[in-house]
Amino acid sequence: ATSRIGVTGLAVMGANLARNIARHGVPVAVHNRTAERTRKFMREYGGEGEFTAAETVEEFVEALERPRRIIIMVKAGGPVDAVIDELAPLLEEGDILIDGGNSHFNDTRRRVERCERDGLRFIGTGVSGGEEGALLGPSIMPGGDREAYAEVEEIFTSIAANVDGTPCCTYVGPDGAGHYVKMVHNGIEYADIQLIAEAYDLLRHVAGLDVPAIARTFEEWNSGDLESFLVEITAKVLAKTDERTGGPLVDVIVDEAEQKGTGRWTAQDALELGVPLTGITEAVYARTLSSLREERGRASGVLRGPVPSEEKDRKELVDDIRQALYASKVVAYAQGFAQMHAASRTHGWDLDLGAMATIWRGGCIIRARFLDRIRDAYAERPDLENLLTVPYFTEATAKAQDAWRRVVMTATEQGVPIPAFSSSLSYYDGYRRERGPAALIQGLRDFFGAHTYHRTDAEGAFHTRWAQDGTEVRTDT
Ligand code: NDP
Repeated sequence: ATSRIGVTGLAVMGANLARNIARHGVPVAVHNRTAERTRKFMREYGGEGEFTAAETVEEFVEALERPRRIIIMVKAGGPVDAVIDELAPLLEEGDILIDGGNSHFNDTRRRVERCERDGLRFIGTGVSGGEEGALLGPSIMPGGDREAYAEVEEIFTSIAANVDGTPCCTYVGPDGAGHYVKMVHNGIEYADIQLIAEAYDLLRHVAGLDVPAIARTFEEWNSGDLESFLVEITAKVLAKTDERTGGPLVDVIVDEAEQKGTGRWTAQDALELGVPLTGITEAVYARTLSSLREERGRASGVLRGPVPSEEKDRKELVDDIRQALYASKVVAYAQGFAQMHAASRTHGWDLDLGAMATIWRGGCIIRARFLDRIRDAYAERPDLENLLTVPYFTEATAKAQDAWRRVVMTATEQGVPIPAFSSSLSYYDGYRRERGPAALIQGLRDFFGAHTYHRTDAEGAFHTRWAQDGTEVRTDT
């Protein structure tokens, strides 16, 4: 046994993680279900570090020092269980299995228990940053067995991205906490991307900018509060000229957004927890609507929109859109963090949300300047219930709100859909209101279903005998 760690699953993510680890001087055993992939890996990258190629699981397990540390980087779902089933009988007490794929946190909770029963230790870890991150430094979100994490901490923190001397990797919490946080990270990524797409749509179809001008606009925005990986690459994608047509590449890409499911999981879990998560959920719906391409094609010939009005002051509108984007982004993050806060309570994870903002500052897709502010907010108030209430964000949204409202009004007038912009603003307005119209909802529920209501001026539950004499009765005594 000569390898300190093993990686099984050598598609893009596994291969790049293995190379990253080896480049840090750690001997790595590599394995893949289909051995040809392992051979190809060795042909291409075998010289980059100290690798042991294993064609069978037996050879793979044999190659590892004890306690064995095995990173599983295969397709999420059934394949992860298949790999665990194959490995478990060959492993010994205390060996560590690490699932680095995008597994659902409930699967991870189940696998942690299963491994405990077999005397094994399990870590479910989020790995963000895509192909390039895996190779050059991802953001790593490990959860599960804490003592097992201590056995891989040195390797993980050395291969992770690093911002101002702090590695983008920290122990997240027990059982499924790591994969949960990765799920919300991906959900926030959906919201961020949707907001950027809406801003692009408005710049193009309401402000009337052409694609190269929009690319330059995003490039400019990337030197301010919006500075982030996603805004940076938006400028690059928009600036790309298509080789075949000579026009912008974006104009020949089919407008159907695909998804692998982590955004949907985030929205589903928000519904389960009872947390309002409008930004991410609208982003999932927007992708779903985009994928009804043929239906949209038919509807476009039938449904009528508004008559386009005259051009607005372009320069002012462009800056309004920037501000609306920033404010909506604040809301999307506030909602995502509120969801993690709620999940942490529900599952007893004791998540350190400031640490999450810290490890997302580098390596991952949602890395942004803005995360420093979130980290600072939790440093000051670790039990913060909503980011919007922190002075920095209170000020930011207050400053942006006039522009934000103008953008939502203009887009609505012009018939340009902005589900994430407008739902974020509605959430903001709903959240800042002391008294809302839900009183009427309760009245209606009591009318048709005798569901009762609470009074503002008395304890207890009440019901009005709507169908009888209209008198009110207290029902909880
Ligand atoms: P894929 O999700 O495309 O999975 C392919 C790998 O899974 C191959 O090594 C394949 O082996 C293996 N595999 C599939 N089924 C089985 C099985 N039943 N038993 C054993 N092995 C199996 O690979 P990626 O590298 O794209 O992703 C790996 C994980 O990382 C996924 O969970 C993904 O969601 C996650 N992830 C991906 C990111 C990305 O940017 N791609 C970013 C962050 C996370 P074989 O060669 O034999 O077919």
